[in-house]
Amino acid sequence: MRLLVTGAAGFIGSHYVRTLLEGGYPGYEDADVTVIDNLTYAGNRANLPGSHERLTFVQADICDGDLLREVLPGHDAVVHFAAESHVDRSLRAASEFIRTNVAGTQSLLDACVTTGVQRVVHVSTDEVYGSIDQGSWTEASPLLPNSPYAASKAASDLVARSYWRTHGLDVSITRCSNNYGPYQHPEKLIPRFTTSLLQGRRLPLYGDGGNVREWLHVDDHCRAVQLVLTRGRAGEGYNVGGGCERTNRQLTELLLDLFAADWSSVEPVADRKGHDLRYALDDSKIREQLGYAPRITFEEGLPATVAWYRDHPDWWKPLVEENGDADE
Ligand code: NAD
Repeated sequence: MRLLVTGAAGFIGSHYVRTLLEGGYPGYEDADVTVIDNLTYAGNRANLPGSHERLTFVQADICDGDLLREVLPGHDAVVHFAAESHVDRSLRAASEFIRTNVAGTQSLLDACVTTGVQRVVHVSTDEVYGSIDQGSWTEASPLLPNSPYAASKAASDLVARSYWRTHGLDVSITRCSNNYGPYQHPEKLIPRFTTSLLQGRRLPLYGDGGNVREWLHVDDHCRAVQLVLTRGRAGEGYNVGGGCERTNRQLTELLLDLFAADWSSVEPVADRKGHDLRYALDDSKIREQLGYAPRITFEEGLPATVAWYRDHPDWWKPLVEENGDADE
């Protein structure tokens, strides 16, 4: 088995590849992995083993079709994580999001068709559905993205669907809620607040903190991606939820408690433009059809994640220097 994984120098893709190389996915203990990543500010080669007999790292852009057509032959499947992923950056400069997330996905799928690599998992997000005040989205809900990031991911989902429908590519789509865990860039909400608390800095909380997100540990997301890779159906999407809704205010309180800090450490800041109020997924499809269930509760995963950042200042301190704004 040979897998090609894009964007695996980033947060989620690196967790997936590390788990794969550690033998964490049954039946894939001997799988060889080729990673394609162009190492943007969000990519860090050190997130993966420096050398491993089953790992090949190729520093390249997924928009480079020639390179993809050179590298892809001989692979059995592609897991596509590569993306521009930070909502706030997409509000300031959207063009890179369209380039990588839309044109890059199209270039990758095109190269798969040309080289005969049939199986693809396209990793997407719940943000493609927009915002929902009550209830939850199923896979049949309309795509109503609100940020340029979400719009670029929704567009890539539609491109993926078209490559299934037009070219018969065996592509499945995952749409996951907010992830947290080790190795997440400190521009994102949980690491941003954690590293701020570790440095005695104040926490910039958007608006009244009433925005609701559903949190899932990265390890559970990656197991869901692996399930979809092995058992998901072509042309179908799979919601992957955390089942753990928290307002940003509640999340902030949990983090403050872990540091024995209080609300004087919080600095309310002007709300993000077009800030989605609530995301909520109905993930009964992947639970019922593929037997998925998250294993790590927020109560155990959050303190463990905070402990990881406490123990790894050498990893996050250089990134904080060039940090952006808080995000989820
Ligand atoms: P990340 O920003 O941490 O990592 C993205 C990786 O992609 C980086 O290593 C970067 O160098 C690479 N990359 C970017 N542009 C590239 C290009 N043109 N060519 C090659 N490589 C490129 O992102 P993440 O949080 O790990 O997210 C991974 C995927 O999961 C994304 O598709 C994202 O939309 C999706 N997702 C993320 C979350 C979340 O909470 N983080 C939730 C649901 C879905």
